[in-house]
Amino acid sequence: MATITATSSAETIDLFNRYVIPNYKRYPICLVRGEGSYVWDAEGNRYLDFFPGWGCNLLGHCPPPVVEAVQDQVARLIHIPNTWYTEPQGLWAKALSERSFGGQAFFCNSGAEANEAAIKLARLHSQKGKYKIVTFLGGFHGRTMATVTATAQPKYHEGLEPLMPGFVYAPFGDLDAVRRLIDDETCAIMVEPIQGEGGVQIPPQGFLKGLRELCDKHGLLLIFDEVQTGCGRTGKWFAYQHFDVTPDVMTLAKAVCGGLAGAAMLTTPEIAKSLRPGMHASTFGGNCLAARAGVAALEMIESENLLAHAQRLGAIFKKRLEEMRQKHHVIREVRVLGVMIGVELSIDGTAAVQACIDRRLLINCTHGTVLRLLPAMNLTEDQLHQGCDILDAVLAEQGN
Ligand SMILES: *Cc1c(COP(=O)(O)O)cnc(C)c1O
Repeated sequence: MATITATSSAETIDLFNRYVIPNYKRYPICLVRGEGSYVWDAEGNRYLDFFPGWGCNLLGHCPPPVVEAVQDQVARLIHIPNTWYTEPQGLWAKALSERSFGGQAFFCNSGAEANEAAIKLARLHSQKGKYKIVTFLGGFHGRTMATVTATAQPKYHEGLEPLMPGFVYAPFGDLDAVRRLIDDETCAIMVEPIQGEGGVQIPPQGFLKGLRELCDKHGLLLIFDEVQTGCGRTGKWFAYQHFDVTPDVMTLAKAVCGGLAGAAMLTTPEIAKSLRPGMHASTFGGNCLAARAGVAALEMIESENLLAHAQRLGAIFKKRLEEMRQKHHVIREVRVLGVMIGVELSIDGTAAVQACIDRRLLINCTHGTVLRLLPAMNLTEDQLHQGCDILDAVLAEQGN
């Protein structure tokens, strides 16, 4: 049996230096075990994780119902091709459909792939050769050529030109700009209901509804990228449910399998017909393990009342962080919806992240100045306060 041995962080880092392509900036810490909102490194240090799995571990590390479902499934059937039927995939699609807008699912393995599917669907569905998609500055949709082009951030485009034709960008929140960009070749608008990577940007009142109206008027598909906001993160199943707007297409990944790799694109049965057999596929998409994990994650959120808990956590986070904003002038703005949290600073956040790690709290900084917290929705109130105490101390220092 292949095993892992208890080596030091330094030994693992040496393996990476020799054998792993260095396309990520990594902290020099090797993590070996996780449970709920805690993770341990190879030296036995315990960290409180306010950014578990980059948003994927919405139920904490190794949530027991997901672990059990996967352990049961892995010994029965790991994967079969999509030329056969399997009950887990059917049940997973039903569970997602019933909690969203009653559509049908296409399964794949990552957020980029789910958005890639949505982009292809938008072109196929338009039927008249329309191909342009409006996306938003500061958005993030993935790293494949189409999705990185959809990602309207020049820093991710450098050196990759020519990009894929057909994407036009509007400022997030600016309906007039969107109106001006729509022409006879436009087939869709693609947007994150709350921009995640862009710094936890909550849309202005009426923006998403305005996009819905524009799509209805011009016959465009409204695509919501809920890869980061979906599956309970904001205290509702999907972020769109806060805004009283229903998309035509929704993409999910990150937390959708409770920490395993998996992704989905959902759409109405009528639009789904445009994804004709043979036009799109994913070998591992909807595999038995991802499907069982996906259903287990949804059921765990329900049986442990975690949507309500996430709303409660969000309210407490908001209160604690607003108190900090009163005290620490480096905090410009606090943005919170459920357990999706952005703390905008007036200074670069890199030093604050490092100071938190030194105190055994894991957080993230995005867009240079926004501290981003994507804690697990089953974080306890005690853990919330412990982490906020650390953040408070760190931000007190940053001000000097
Ligand atoms: C992370 C993310 C993606 C990309 O997902 P991958 O699984 O890394 O391909 C796409 N859209 C949003 C909103 C994301 O946060």
